[in-house]
Amino acid sequence: MSEVVDPATGEVVGFVPATSVGEVDAAIARADAAFRRWRGVAPGERARVLRRFAAVVDAHLEELARLEVRNSGHTIGNARWEAGNVRDVLDYYAGAPERLTGRQIPVPGGLDVTFHEPLGVVGVIVPWNFPMPIAAWGFAPALAAGNTVVLKPAELTPLTALRLAELAREAGVPDDVFTVLPGAGSVVGERFVTHPAVRKVCFTGSTEVGTRIMAGCAAQVKRLTLELGGKSANLVFADADLERAAATAPYAVFDNAGQDCCARSRILVQRPAYDRFLELLEPAVRALRVEDPARETAEMGPLISAAQRDRVAGYVDGANVAFAGSRPDGPGFWYAPTVLLADSPADRHWREEIFGPVVSVLPFDDEADAIRLANDTEYGLSGSVWTRDVGRAVRVARAVEAGNLSVNSHSSVRYWTPFGGMKRSGLGRELGPDALHAFTDVKNVFIATEE
Ligand code: NAP
Ligand code: MG
Repeated sequence: MSEVVDPATGEVVGFVPATSVGEVDAAIARADAAFRRWRGVAPGERARVLRRFAAVVDAHLEELARLEVRNSGHTIGNARWEAGNVRDVLDYYAGAPERLTGRQIPVPGGLDVTFHEPLGVVGVIVPWNFPMPIAAWGFAPALAAGNTVVLKPAELTPLTALRLAELAREAGVPDDVFTVLPGAGSVVGERFVTHPAVRKVCFTGSTEVGTRIMAGCAAQVKRLTLELGGKSANLVFADADLERAAATAPYAVFDNAGQDCCARSRILVQRPAYDRFLELLEPAVRALRVEDPARETAEMGPLISAAQRDRVAGYVDGANVAFAGSRPDGPGFWYAPTVLLADSPADRHWREEIFGPVVSVLPFDDEADAIRLANDTEYGLSGSVWTRDVGRAVRVARAVEAGNLSVNSHSSVRYWTPFGGMKRSGLGRELGPDALHAFTDVKNVFIATEE
């Protein structure tokens, strides 16, 4: 059994069993047997089951959101969005089984058609920063394509995933089609990688563990999607709407207490606007409401654990602090949103993913300088460009080596559109109209028509 803690108070809120290797193997065997049946369910019926699952999630939205507030310290507003995202992603992919069409390719001597065949058992490994959405981005398209799913939540945040598995059963998802297996990454997650019946792994988490998982999957040429770390740039040009850029910048990095792989944790400001931008940023950061995440007014909650808080604090020690916001006193793993001035792009806080409410600011000279600094990182997940010049917006968005760019906005994740990283931020794409292709293999069939 492992303890589950409320990060806002440090209090134990429950105990969850740790699945053993033997139990994981048994669950994978059942999921493999269930695959033979689930893939044969007519597309329209698979769609109906997923729509019912979405409806049951919708009926339990508030319960799921409250559970996430208690287990993960997410603000209630965010947690409602996250539960709603599970519903929306299920609804969106419920439309997919009936539209998973192949092609008919002109060839001599016969008829050639392609099929998108499901893979089998898919293993989804979820981190603690967005327990519900990241789970759904894996399981919803995987199930829609006709695969069965075994899912390992993070040890720190298993409660909503376990509840979603119960809701799936209530909605009529057949036995062993969607199984949640709480436990250690080194036991349950590792077994997804080594077990030959698991045909694909979907991993979100640190680049370090993701790199090891990729090496492990190579042994079996196992399909793999990786969503890893980030150190995304928020590029603010002098011609931008500085008021809006400064007012929104705190939310682009301090949302979810900065525990977001898309956090715009490097702010680059064109030199003529640098002082003015910081002047506007300071009141926005100080005004951020860091408080009990269950309160309707909360804009930022605690960090996930004492260890994460200490890790974050390690980046601020000795750095040049421009200003900081507030944090409540008392128990829980709180850290005030903090703005650091980078002395150079060599600073540790400028280069490494902090995964906490800390942002670094650096001035730049011109467009070429901005692009060079933005790309001077091993990561490439997301980024923002603030400018009123349309040509520049397009040039810079195309030049930044990252999977998800936004112009005069900080949007990254929208379930209609593909999401994922370049460079060491990941491999493959989730969400969007093509996600089912990541959970299927193309089969080509040629039928001779010559007598
Ligand atoms: P992590 O170790 O990569 O954990 C992510 C998931 O992988 C968890 O479910 C974890 O299980 C599991 N796991 C761990 N070791 C494994 C292994 N050998 N084989 C298979 N699965 C394994 O990430 P973390 O330790 O929670 O966070 C560390 C840092 O990673 C963060 O500070 C942040 O920089 C980065 N991170 C990025 C993202 C993202 O969204 N890109 C998300 C989370 C963290 P356990 O819960 O049992 O460890
Ligand atoms: Mg870890």
